[in-house]
Amino acid sequence: MIYADHAATTRLSPKALEAMRPWLEEEYANPSTLYSFSRNARRAVSEAREKIASAIGANADEIYFTSGGTEADNWALKSIAFRQPNQRGRIITSAVEHHAILNTCAFLERIGFEVTYLPVDRHGIVSCKDLADALIKGTVLVSVMTANNELGTIEPIAELAEAARQYNVLFHTDAVQAVGHIPVNVEKLGVDLLSASAHKFNGPKGIGFLYIRKGTAIEAFIHGGGQEKGMRSGTENIAGIVGMAAALEEHLETMIEDAVQCERLRAKLIDLLRKAGLDFVINSGESHIPGSLSISFRGAEGEMLLHRLDLMGIAIAVGSACNAKETKLSHVIQAIQIPEEYRNGTVRITLGADNDDRQIEEIASGLNRIFAR
Ligand code: PLP
Repeated sequence: MIYADHAATTRLSPKALEAMRPWLEEEYANPSTLYSFSRNARRAVSEAREKIASAIGANADEIYFTSGGTEADNWALKSIAFRQPNQRGRIITSAVEHHAILNTCAFLERIGFEVTYLPVDRHGIVSCKDLADALIKGTVLVSVMTANNELGTIEPIAELAEAARQYNVLFHTDAVQAVGHIPVNVEKLGVDLLSASAHKFNGPKGIGFLYIRKGTAIEAFIHGGGQEKGMRSGTENIAGIVGMAAALEEHLETMIEDAVQCERLRAKLIDLLRKAGLDFVINSGESHIPGSLSISFRGAEGEMLLHRLDLMGIAIAVGSACNAKETKLSHVIQAIQIPEEYRNGTVRITLGADNDDRQIEEIASGLNRIFAR
């Protein structure tokens, strides 16, 4: 199989697996217990928290482990909302967020909050001016993703967060597609809350984290035995936490060379498709996650392309993996206004460091054969 859907998920790195193994086998102590057997588990969680914090320029006590990106997004939005007097206020987000944000916003709207969905340009970029215009009194939170999961487009988060700060409004970013792939530093970005997920950077599934800037008034998300300083209770997923830290550490070491490789392969793919005379437009922004390509072929059906490539052993995506069962155009594709004759033929190809030149040639020749038919 040629796997070209790294935005959906990635393979667990062997180093992360090795780091996880002891916590799944002999080191099974509950870190909250008092006997010495639990000391190693406590230390492992604490070291992982340090590593993750330093990877994003945060302090260890600002990192809270969650079950993944979806939970971190839910926590950020609901907990800020639930702190508002009379449970009222406005949240500003973008029209192209992941459903973890959009469906949380829909829920908050149902219980009385107001939500503004900022439009985006042709490549999915939110404008700072639109945000500044929308920042009216009563806004309690702005949430804009660092990089879009369907387009790979990177948003101008530092500028957007600065606009929010001028109005004293908290800023959250869903950095699930960005962490491990591009430099992410909470100080440089100026964000108050940030979500991430391990399985997007070759860590295990079902583990992620929420960064909460020290001093941010936020409600606990899961009530129980008081883990994560009482903010997110439940016995820690130690193997997951350790695996996530190991995977992130490894990604940071190879980030630059991986980015160069992924971008070279992406350029090669585009070049091969152009040389083959295929008619397409590129939707990803100029600034995008390395190796990420949203592309629309004229007069084609994205799903048909996916299934034909699948028969050739090539895995790509239409829209996002999280709504892959939907056949209608995704909200992102609708928001970026792809020319009518190209819109239905949109696919997402997301390359990783494990792809190579031969695979790129096969993807290009697979697409070429489909169109030749
Ligand atoms: N946010 C974005 C931008 C994503 O791409 C995803 C996963 O596809 C999520 C949130 C959800 O993360 P998780 O799968 O860890 O719940």
